[in-house]
Amino acid sequence: ERQEHIRNFSIVAHIDHGKSTLADRILELTDTVAKRDMQDQLLDSMDLERERGITIKLNAVELHYKAKNGENYIFHLIDTPGHVDFSYEVSRSLAACEGAVLVVDAAQGVEAQTLANVYLAIDDNLEIVPVINKIDLPAADPERVRKEIEDVVGLDASDAVLTSAKAGIGVSELLEQIVDKIPAPDGKIDAPLKALIFDSKYDDYRGVVLSIRLMEGMVKRGDKIRLVNSNAVYEVTEVGVNSPDPIKKDYLMAGDVGYLAASIKTIKDARVGDTVTSANNTDVIPLEGYREMNPMVYSGLYPTDNAKFNDLREALEKLQLNDAALEFEPESSQALGFGFRCGFLGLLHMDVVQERLEREFNLDLITTAPSVTYKVDLTDDTEIEVENPSDMPDASQIKSVREPYVNANIMVPSEYVGAVMELAQYRRGIFDTMDYIDDNRVNVKYELPLSEIIFDFFDKLKSSTRGYASLDYELGEYKVSNLVKIDILLNGDQVDALSFIAHRDFAQQRGNEITASLKKIIPRRNFEIPVQAAIGNKIIARTNIKAYRKDVTSKIHTGDPDRRAKLLDKQKRGKKRMKAVGRVEVPQEAFMAVLKTD
Ligand code: GDP
Ligand code: MG
Repeated sequence: ERQEHIRNFSIVAHIDHGKSTLADRILELTDTVAKRDMQDQLLDSMDLERERGITIKLNAVELHYKAKNGENYIFHLIDTPGHVDFSYEVSRSLAACEGAVLVVDAAQGVEAQTLANVYLAIDDNLEIVPVINKIDLPAADPERVRKEIEDVVGLDASDAVLTSAKAGIGVSELLEQIVDKIPAPDGKIDAPLKALIFDSKYDDYRGVVLSIRLMEGMVKRGDKIRLVNSNAVYEVTEVGVNSPDPIKKDYLMAGDVGYLAASIKTIKDARVGDTVTSANNTDVIPLEGYREMNPMVYSGLYPTDNAKFNDLREALEKLQLNDAALEFEPESSQALGFGFRCGFLGLLHMDVVQERLEREFNLDLITTAPSVTYKVDLTDDTEIEVENPSDMPDASQIKSVREPYVNANIMVPSEYVGAVMELAQYRRGIFDTMDYIDDNRVNVKYELPLSEIIFDFFDKLKSSTRGYASLDYELGEYKVSNLVKIDILLNGDQVDALSFIAHRDFAQQRGNEITASLKKIIPRRNFEIPVQAAIGNKIIARTNIKAYRKDVTSKIHTGDPDRRAKLLDKQKRGKKRMKAVGRVEVPQEAFMAVLKTD
């Protein structure tokens, strides 16, 4: 009876098409959040999400809706991120649902992540409810977008709801469609417990708190549960739902989406994708978990203070619970000491991990330049994988080096196709196909080296198409490339953490660019610092950071106290993310400089 009144759905869309704002209106309309407590993108509860205006984490909430038919429904709504780096959050959300609300911007139409997310939902056999949002915009063209959804995505959009999440138009019609179109969960309530862990986070008081979707059975406080893959047994201390603040419940049953705490302190027991069952149920077939995510890029994470290595390990373990795509293993660097080589889904992901580690765990970190994984065929006929450029063997031992390519989808108005192709060609792209989405937009497909797109490709793409292009990509094949390792020497010492891999045709140019930018970034000392780039023993570029003449600190002692305090403060902040390498102070930007191109 209750189960028939449950609707579980995720909201998916391309970034910025209005998912979180639509979730706001739904929270309001269902009186889940009082008007006075309402704020924009309420479910973006992390500081980082609010500051950047993007959703990073999935967020599941329970709402109560009285439909026009007079019945009361329980909605479990999961808001999801739109950025390609966080698509793992989307796929995990979808596995907890029967339906997906697909939001498409009425002015922009179908974009690269619209398609990517729809495919995820279709793979999971979800009922898709299309919504055309932002109809209040002067540039909105809902009928064109309706056609696009039908032609490009292949969904029936004839009764797609037209909404303005901003102005609150069409939202109650959407809620009615959710009731009508999205199936209620099935799954036996009197069967043994079977629940999917789709997210988790560490809480100092309650231990690991699991986000679960119950597929079968029930769970309540005091129950003994077993996590199937880790085979660990715990006693449930609390179950509940987020609405959006946590509300304790007496029980959760098949079809529900909620949370469970069981004083789980052993972090590795509580993996996302695992199945929760009752302790005495030993012959359960685990639910199909999640595809392991392979990191796209790797970089080194080092505490600026070497004594914080163990703190960093603990922080990474805890963060990994809440960020299932994060990977890490210890590594060491001559220049930076002990740290971790971490795997990320992209640079935004890497940036977010660094920020979260610093904010939530109070650490100061240096990240080294991200690198893709190279496959190296050696002269002794063995093959190795190189995730850290400084591990690249000597050229004399190498037969060939292969690098990962991605299959990229770029959607763009046709007038910018030329600009897109020029950029893709310059980034060593291999043209694949070009299809018209409608009269004036095309979908261009390229194979591109992953290393060429991870850093600033998207920015360059945006600026060369006046912001109109959208990009989505997935890992493709490895291909042989003419690649070389470039080492950087500061004050005559090679700094392993600054080594990087480049295509031979661009090596000279990159060497020049990098020495020039390091010269700008690295603070002067009272001696001259030579900055060199080398391939093997051969120096390919060189510049000098001049010694400073004046005593800068003496300036601080003059001037008014206010200004002095400010200067000191600035200096203190400048010190953060700085690492002494020999006698040279290397700031964080230096490690990223090796990726910048003009
Ligand atoms: P998300 O990335 O899909 O979650 O998108 P957000 O909900 O964060 O919205 C992105 C931007 O679009 C924000 O500035 C919103 O205020 C704006 N926005 C969302 N819905 C509408 C709408 O219906 N009309 C207009 N004009 N702007 C909207
Ligand atoms: Mg959002």
